[in-house]
Amino acid sequence: MSKLGTAVGTLIEQLESHEARLDELTANVTALTANVTALTATVTALTARVAALEAQPAHATADAGFELEPIRDEAIIALAEYRRQLDDVPFSPEADGVTSAMRAEHYAAVDAVARAASWIERSGPNRDQEIYAAIGAGRKALIRLTAMLEHRPIPLPLLTAEELSGYVDAATDVHTGNRFVWEGRGDAEFLLDRPVSGKPVLLEVVPLGEDHLVLNVIHVERTDRKLEHRFSDTAGLGFVYRKMVGPEVTHLRITGDPGWRARVIQPDELPSMERETTGQGRAWFRHTLGAKKVTIQGTEGGSLEFVPDCDCKGICTDYDHRTPKSLTYHSGDFREDMTLPRRTGMLSVSMRPKSVWSVTVLHY
Ligand SMILES: [Zn+2]
Repeated sequence: MSKLGTAVGTLIEQLESHEARLDELTANVTALTANVTALTATVTALTARVAALEAQPAHATADAGFELEPIRDEAIIALAEYRRQLDDVPFSPEADGVTSAMRAEHYAAVDAVARAASWIERSGPNRDQEIYAAIGAGRKALIRLTAMLEHRPIPLPLLTAEELSGYVDAATDVHTGNRFVWEGRGDAEFLLDRPVSGKPVLLEVVPLGEDHLVLNVIHVERTDRKLEHRFSDTAGLGFVYRKMVGPEVTHLRITGDPGWRARVIQPDELPSMERETTGQGRAWFRHTLGAKKVTIQGTEGGSLEFVPDCDCKGICTDYDHRTPKSLTYHSGDFREDMTLPRRTGMLSVSMRPKSVWSVTVLHY
């Protein structure tokens, strides 16, 4: 009995052991199943999120990217450009031949940086205007300092009452963030800045707002040696006023009711003639085509004029460099074959306002 009893006891132990093992395996399987269920839920959730992202309109992503772009601050850019302009005028206060007048202009030009910078961190509707007015005061000082250094007649500063007390009235100041653009309303007179001092420039003046309003534009020579109104013309009535301004002109005076914008146009800003260029009324072009043969025709007459690029050393003394020279002139309907100038410069198509014209370049 005891042998049998022992054998049965062993079998029971083995069976219990297997049952425990089976329980353990079942528990493992249950745990794994739970894991798989959890993973499946996670995968389902992720798939849903990817699907939701893909379903978003394309511009939502683009908009998010756009918001990350830094805001372009024109006033800060203008101040940086002015600092470069200041650095480009070599000046040492202690150098031989430097006068107290030169030092005064130099310090005014340097002070303009600090004055403009003091407005950079501020906000408010007048912030940009204040910065441009401060930079404008510096530009005026640099124009005068440069004339002194180059031994040219010195443009008079035309200080207002506010400026005499060291304060620029930003509300009426005509300077903008661009060195060669001035904006105002009503009467104003300001120092004309140029890319290269002593050279002629092409000037544009346009009334802002109502078309029927007219401005008077007066070219003034106002220096320590001379005061002369050299030229007077009107701008407005649908005309774009573009005139060459000689180096002797130091100030522009603009009078009239409307708001206005004046700017110096650099030759490279002008469009070039194409193989066939058509237009109506007046237009200016950059000319680098050389002595090409062209056919020009128009319906109501006018002229084609040319100003060669100035190659004078120092101050321009050549009258041709500031005076458009007529290449051809017609009245009424016309068609003419002609040759463009070999030199580079600017071409002015000066037709009557309603004249429709075309210039066709042969062998473009
Ligand atoms: Zn010249």
